[in-house]
Amino acid sequence: MIKLKKSVESLNAYFVNDMPCRIKLDANEGSNYLLKNGLNFDMTNINLYPDSDARLLREKMAEYYGCSAKNIIVGNGSSELVNMVINAFCEKGDRVVSFTPSFSMYKTYCDLCGAQFTGVETEEDFTQNIDLLIEKSLNVRAKAVILCTPNNPTGYMTEKTDVVKLLDSVKDSLIVVDEAYIDFSNFDNISSVDLINKYDNLIVMRTLSKAFGLAGLRVGAMIGNEELINYIWKVKVPYNMNALSQYTAAEALKNTAMVRDYVRDTAGLRDKLKDDLRALNFTVFNSGANFLFMKSPIDRLYEELMNRGILIRKFSFDGEVYYRITVGTEAENAALLEEIKNIAGGQNEK
Ligand code: PMP
Repeated sequence: MIKLKKSVESLNAYFVNDMPCRIKLDANEGSNYLLKNGLNFDMTNINLYPDSDARLLREKMAEYYGCSAKNIIVGNGSSELVNMVINAFCEKGDRVVSFTPSFSMYKTYCDLCGAQFTGVETEEDFTQNIDLLIEKSLNVRAKAVILCTPNNPTGYMTEKTDVVKLLDSVKDSLIVVDEAYIDFSNFDNISSVDLINKYDNLIVMRTLSKAFGLAGLRVGAMIGNEELINYIWKVKVPYNMNALSQYTAAEALKNTAMVRDYVRDTAGLRDKLKDDLRALNFTVFNSGANFLFMKSPIDRLYEELMNRGILIRKFSFDGEVYYRITVGTEAENAALLEEIKNIAGGQNEK
């Protein structure tokens, strides 16, 4: 068998848990509320390659994100873009620093190109000390620093003043702020998009997979200062986003008032679910995203819920088990709570 390159040979393949379930609360997907009535996609030109630069989509995104289309490159989900950026900037052995726990794919993308991932531990309650991230980034002369806010899986929201502190302190590294979930906490303009013209080493990642409920389309955006974005165009694969996704995403972006209502409703459901779970003795961490991260008073919560058709995510850090639950609809959250009560009742009887 022909061998893969050394840096990737020992990686584990990323397989997604696709167990059939009745309520899916494991992957932080949103509801299908924007395009459930279908679309009028014109198939006349489907024989032609799509617009390689995704001009129309970038114009629409620019309105929503509050920047110019020249500040944006789109990709197949922000996953593709995070990979593209790490691959474009990092040589073998270059250091990439991020908090841990955070989105596990950052390390995988480093492994793919031979960059060295360095995790900075968060506090016991999963709050993040930005000074530690700054210190580590300077010490190892990081090529890139990735900050995920709100953080997946913990939900922690970085203060904008901390992002600015990072940018002011670490000037020789690329600073990637992954805002996949920020729509759910962006009521006070905490996004860093408005900083791109002040800091030429800043890249902000956004996605339509969460707040827009369009994970199946695979549409993400990388936003930065025009000069930096022009530079990154060098590594973008031509025609990377298909015509149907470009068209559909641009249509969805015509309905941003609905998105604003949806994220407000979801944030309300999240806060109610947090209170309800705390009342059932769960330790639930504050979250600015569309999910909650928690410790459970119930044994084998993941397995017990799975047996009842509800899929959530389970994590182990330092020998402790944690769970991440996507905020569902009102009915899904009620069903979840009911099943949790049933499981707790059953365990108390034993
Ligand atoms: N960043 C974070 C923090 C995520 O949680 C995810 C999806 N789970 C992504 C990026 C990638 O999202 P997508 O590729 O769907 O845009």
